[in-house]
Amino acid sequence: MPESFDNPSFIAYTKDESRSPMTLLNRRTFLNTSAAVCAATGLRLQLWTRAASSVEAVASGALLLGVDYYPDQTPENLWEVDARMIAAAGFTNVRIAEFAWALMEPSEGQFDFAWLHRAVDILHKNSVAVILGTPSAAPPPWLSDRYPEIFEVNAQGQKLHPGGRRFTCPTNKTYRRLSLSVATQMAQTFGQTPGIVGWQIDNEFTLGSSGRCYCEHCQAGFQDWLRSKYVNLEALNRVWGTAFWSQIYTWPLITTPAFSKCTFISRRNQRPFLWR
Ligand SMILES: [Zn+2]
Repeated sequence: MPESFDNPSFIAYTKDESRSPMTLLNRRTFLNTSAAVCAATGLRLQLWTRAASSVEAVASGALLLGVDYYPDQTPENLWEVDARMIAAAGFTNVRIAEFAWALMEPSEGQFDFAWLHRAVDILHKNSVAVILGTPSAAPPPWLSDRYPEIFEVNAQGQKLHPGGRRFTCPTNKTYRRLSLSVATQMAQTFGQTPGIVGWQIDNEFTLGSSGRCYCEHCQAGFQDWLRSKYVNLEALNRVWGTAFWSQIYTWPLITTPAFSKCTFISRRNQRPFLWR
């Protein structure tokens, strides 16, 4: 057994009420337990056994059961044994790469997919089909450093910091351009690669902090949307009743409805803009 199986960096957490306070599982224990659960619950169906390969299983419409897998976070000398164990556990497919932007594009416009090709090949060789995720949920540090305007601003006016995932403004044009760029490169590189049976676009599309972004770019877009909705300022101020509390607006002074004791800007007005 490779030593790395017992490395604390390869653990999964599970809550066990009978033991205090948290039980730690290493990778092998986790996978073996998963396999035992699948077998005990009858999930290794005859249908799977008949499937000569996972790709054929997908084509036949057979019931699929997949698991997340992160070769980008796993030493490469473990990929082969991991693939064998995933297949042995009865899983037909994995979803990979959705947070691996930094490895796919180490610097702007410089792409490296060789490692991902090797990972896909190993999984395919072991009859594990691949769903490939585009990595836009986790922009790399070089992107955050060069384009700090991509950060989300929450309802309290705080700009989020990088260091995790989902810290970006989803309507920011730079973020969208670079997300499209890496996704396009992936599509061109892996579009015909054997073993890939599907794609995941982004991951859990939400905003990281407040559920809506209040950055200056969203504010400018919000004002444009209000112009198209109300046409003129008189109509807007009349509908919103801004004479009350002396909040009569001119276009450049209309803010997104961030945190305030009271605001005339209905949140109902903002939602269609942010999520259109
Ligand atoms: Zn924004």
